[in-house]
Amino acid sequence: MDQFDVAVVGLGVVGSAAAYQAALKGAKTIGFEQFEFGHVRGASSDTSRIVRTSYGTPEYVKLAQDAYREWSNLEQRSGLQMLTITGGVVFFSPDATGINSANSASEFTKSLDANGLPYELLSPQEVKKRWPQFNLPQGVETVFTADSGIVHAGRSVAAFQNEARQEGAILRENTRVDKIIPVPDGVVIKTSKGQFRAAKVILAADAWINRLLKPLDAEIPLTVMQEQVTYFKPHDLAPFETTKFPVWIWGGKEWFYGFPSYGEPSIKAGRDIANNIMTPEQRTFAHSPQLLEQLTSFMEALIPAKGQPLRTVTCQYAITPDRQFIISPLEKYKNIIVGLGGGHIFKFAPAVGRILAELAIDGKTDSDISLFGIPRTPTSSKL
Ligand SMILES: Cc1cc2nc3c(=O)[nH]c(=O)nc-3n(C[C@H](O)[C@H](O)[C@H](O)COP(=O)(O)OP(=O)(O)OC[C@H]3O[C@@H](n4cnc5c(N)ncnc54)[C@H](O)[C@@H]3O)c2cc1C
Repeated sequence: MDQFDVAVVGLGVVGSAAAYQAALKGAKTIGFEQFEFGHVRGASSDTSRIVRTSYGTPEYVKLAQDAYREWSNLEQRSGLQMLTITGGVVFFSPDATGINSANSASEFTKSLDANGLPYELLSPQEVKKRWPQFNLPQGVETVFTADSGIVHAGRSVAAFQNEARQEGAILRENTRVDKIIPVPDGVVIKTSKGQFRAAKVILAADAWINRLLKPLDAEIPLTVMQEQVTYFKPHDLAPFETTKFPVWIWGGKEWFYGFPSYGEPSIKAGRDIANNIMTPEQRTFAHSPQLLEQLTSFMEALIPAKGQPLRTVTCQYAITPDRQFIISPLEKYKNIIVGLGGGHIFKFAPAVGRILAELAIDGKTDSDISLFGIPRTPTSSKL
């Protein structure tokens, strides 16, 4: 049976980044992906994800700063541009509540202050002056951070995989991991294409992770849902170019987000946590017309020049009860390390991959992962 230092299960953005970082550290690394590379059944496909340091919890701000350094390393190694910095605004309506419990501008500014990061606090009038594309109601507070922007999703996953291979990692597509068996000096990994041994295994299987954790009596409370984003076609695209329009997040009773025109003549927007609950097996890949209607009418009010919806694509969220990440070995089986993203980890992936590789190879990390343990009971916390 082939023996590895580190095995990675799941090669979405988290697993691909972990395989890249483990291989960079010189570990003999193997990664398994149940579907073909570049598939769209998980959470890491499509073109764009928002990157930002702007978070309501200092630990996430610090992790985002680390991630920006790691994105830059990936750009240098691959020779490809990953990030497009556009600036970003987070709007807080007076009724901001719900899923994201850091609900106020002051929580964001406090955690940016704690990390010494610059921002601007803007009134609706100041927003209108800078970006007439937005139509904000009175009472909305806006936090602007100049370092926010876009990471290319598909390109960065492929680049992590490519760089991992350059460093000697073996990455197998269409190879499903069926079972992880703890043994005294590591784990045995049973796959649809044979058995492997590794000293440590990193589980980055997101919505599918409990299939592997259940036999280990280590299931994690997760809610899985199909999300959707819509591309709109403004009549005039010029005001929505990346140099003129920021990435944006709306915090209200419900949360929405959107992008400037990026790589195609349209602007993308979506609702965060649309609660269209379904398992990977139940996923239809058909969008919900009700959610599209809700988004379109929300956009009509916020960005009146958004134009007509062009197309809607679906994606998948796997959410922990408090939406925190999990970056931790299992309590009972320390050779099995979990990396789970709570539906917002893309921007952090290269830093999280490094931490997972450190936990696997060094048995420790200097990064602060105190928030990211295995959840026991549902709590409400701040992102
Ligand atoms: C619509 C949408 C918008 C988002 N916007 C943002 C954003 O703006 N900014 C941001 O930071 N984040 C964003 N996110 C969240 C982010 O994209 C996800 O958190 C991230 O992609 C999760 O990556 P992952 O690798 O954990 O999961 P996945 O990409 O789902 O990867 C898990 C992989 O594991 C494989 N797998 C599972 N089980 C097995 C097995 N037994 N054997 C082998 N392989 C297995 C799966 O096939 C899959 O490829 C968004 C997500 C969605 C859906």
